[in-house]
Amino acid sequence: MTRDEAERVLRIMAEADGGCEVCARDLFTKFVASFPEYRDLGERLFYEIFGSELYIREGSTEGGHRHHPGPIVMYNFSEELAPMR
Ligand SMILES: [Zn+2]
Repeated sequence: MTRDEAERVLRIMAEADGGCEVCARDLFTKFVASFPEYRDLGERLFYEIFGSELYIREGSTEGGHRHHPGPIVMYNFSEELAPMR
């Protein structure tokens, strides 16, 4: 995977759940754990797109935003992979 491809994948993941920051952070975190060579790219893009740090610092009181602010229909393709919330 090239750096350009990594950026495209990250931009797609940023649209998870309709552009949900919480879901995107989860995916970005997993991505940079699997591809540590693109960690800086993931952090930069996340900040650029959501305006907040990818990693919430320890002891941070950040948060409190609502995960899914409205009614949402989630299709359960696999109960194991996507348990009902
Ligand atoms: Zn979400």
